[in-house]
Amino acid sequence: AEKPRLLDDEEGGVLFLAASASSSRLGHSSIQKQRQRLPVYKYRTAILYLVETHATTIIVGETGSGKTTQIPQYLKEAGWADGGRVIACTQPRRLAVQAVASRVAEEMGVKLGEEVGYTIRFENLTNTGVTMIKFLTDGVLLKEMMDDPLLSKYSVIMVDEAHERSISTDILLGLLKKIQQRRPELRLIISSATIEAKSMAAFFQTSKKHRGMEGEVLGPRIEPAILSVEGRGFNVQIHYVEGPVSNYVQAVVSTVLLIHDREPMGDILVFLTGQDDIDAAVKLLTEEVQNCGRNSLGLIILPLYSGLPRAEQELIFAPTPRGKRKVVISTNIAETSLTLEGVVYVVDSGFSKQRSYNPLSDIENLVVAPISKASARQRAGRAGRVRPGKCYRLYTEEYFINEMSAEGIPEMQRSNLVSCVIQLKALGIDNILGFDWPAPPSPEAMVRALEVLYSLGVLDDDAKLTSPAGFQVAEIALDPMISKMILSSSELGCSEEIITIAAVLSIQSVWVSGRGAQKELDEAKLRFAAAEGDHVTFLNVYKGFLQSGKSPQWCHKNYINYQAMKKVIEIREQLKRTAQRLGIVLKSCETDMLVVRKAITAGFFANACRLEAFSHNGKYRTIRGSQEVYIHPSSVLFRVNPKWVIYHSLVSTDRRYMRNVTSVEPSWLREAAPHYYKHQPPSNPMLH
Ligand code: ADP
Ligand code: MG
Repeated sequence: AEKPRLLDDEEGGVLFLAASASSSRLGHSSIQKQRQRLPVYKYRTAILYLVETHATTIIVGETGSGKTTQIPQYLKEAGWADGGRVIACTQPRRLAVQAVASRVAEEMGVKLGEEVGYTIRFENLTNTGVTMIKFLTDGVLLKEMMDDPLLSKYSVIMVDEAHERSISTDILLGLLKKIQQRRPELRLIISSATIEAKSMAAFFQTSKKHRGMEGEVLGPRIEPAILSVEGRGFNVQIHYVEGPVSNYVQAVVSTVLLIHDREPMGDILVFLTGQDDIDAAVKLLTEEVQNCGRNSLGLIILPLYSGLPRAEQELIFAPTPRGKRKVVISTNIAETSLTLEGVVYVVDSGFSKQRSYNPLSDIENLVVAPISKASARQRAGRAGRVRPGKCYRLYTEEYFINEMSAEGIPEMQRSNLVSCVIQLKALGIDNILGFDWPAPPSPEAMVRALEVLYSLGVLDDDAKLTSPAGFQVAEIALDPMISKMILSSSELGCSEEIITIAAVLSIQSVWVSGRGAQKELDEAKLRFAAAEGDHVTFLNVYKGFLQSGKSPQWCHKNYINYQAMKKVIEIREQLKRTAQRLGIVLKSCETDMLVVRKAITAGFFANACRLEAFSHNGKYRTIRGSQEVYIHPSSVLFRVNPKWVIYHSLVSTDRRYMRNVTSVEPSWLREAAPHYYKHQPPSNPMLH
């Protein structure tokens, strides 16, 4: 077997990356050589044969072996995109969709959006009739099923990163299994870095055979094929800390500096959990570097998380200049979705941000939680791409062996299922409890979801989608609470405002973070702050942005993220088109913010909280479930603490914090959702 050339220290991944990064400089033949060096290349014929002869092929291969970028190209070369058919490849993450699509377009020497395109929510870069290979999130493919239930334009659907077990991936797998029975010519590829291939195979094993009159088997074979791509990873030395780490951001920074001081050249990949701690680590590391002189001058520090502007994404993949060392501080997107060439050292905090849901309290939030052993191994593996590497785990060996769970829990089993249920209902799947899930969700979570959808007026007494509201909410395909808010705004005469709010809620944040000037940011926020809360504040920001003529300077001055605002404008345009299609009257309520708050309440009544009597520290309790929550410091209502509020989402750190909060009147809650609040125990000082 061909082993990759061992690259020496100084130039290591640098040359290789330089080669991958620009086809224009390199020319076609060099790209082709690179493609042939990938482990998956040796399996090209085998893969094409299996796909030809089996309805489902499961492909397991180490990250970086070429599954995502190569297999769709092999399929295209073998004719699966002939006759106007399309090859689809799904990813759980948007940023991965964009990065991989642009890489494949580059390898094929075509313009992104033509033969190779991608679709993520709010962004469609494909050309019907021209696009042959299409990358998309699994969520977008689910949405496409509403218009084309059999996904008839696709010849092959590759469900990638299946080991992540994202909620959309699981729903998709369940539905694709059904579609397969109706479309024997459709081919599925399930691919992942690690997977219990057997259980996946068992899931796709169907008893139904396509047989002809004589009993001969027609069409492809039903039992799934399994192919394992031998990786080529180098050895990775694992280091553990001796005792538990109390502050992992600080520990990350010290470890990076230590590596930089003591170890030969080679890039560093750090795994943290989300934008907050990544920005904090970038800032701290930058300060340390400035304070400690010459040795640290060669560090290039880059964050990596979803929502990062395109220009910054490109820096991640750009070649590391000679004599420098790149430090990429990432969420778990770099665990398996993206491959960074040139990484020799990995620093693993041992945590990631994960969805967590408690059906009893009906509270879903993103929590920083310990990763599984499987994830830890994946992370370590990132260090052995170009030569033997080292992985520094910021937890003890004892902890790894005795306390880390072996596998993560599928997202399906730790999520609020509201969006999932509505999608299935819209696709005509009525018996949701009886649906063939790769991992069945908990019945409590299901019941909760049905209850919320019922109170939103999306489902009727028979648990069927209501007409038109239910179908409209499904069609908007945002969080049903947001969709409901938009529908209500139509009646309340404030759809222009609510659509703006919905657009802002669809992005991470309108504020600039990580510029390290909390005080200035807080002052800037005060200029826009509305007494009603964050949602109305967003309207002020949007108005200001329009009045400034969409000026980047204005954004900079006001600590507003210009890229985010451009995105808001784009999303808003799309939502407007969707709204018009649904017959929603576009109307502004001018200065009447009361109706705006009522519309928000109509969607988010389930997230209502009341300030505890005699609470001096801003403690709230949720009306349903009586959970303790606080207003997030980033909210304009932080320390204002109105008596009744509703929130958009919760984040958990030391406490549960409500993000994006608006003050409401208790009477609006009952108005908006009489059913939902009907069964409150009398002891709850609710709604009088
Ligand atoms: P897998 O899906 O098996 O993890 P990929 O197909 O994503 O592997 O990647 C195969 C190889 O392609 C990587 O090892 C890397 O060298 C190269 N590659 C992928 N994406 C990019 C990119 N955006 N820029 C440069 N090289 C890339
Ligand atoms: Mg991949």
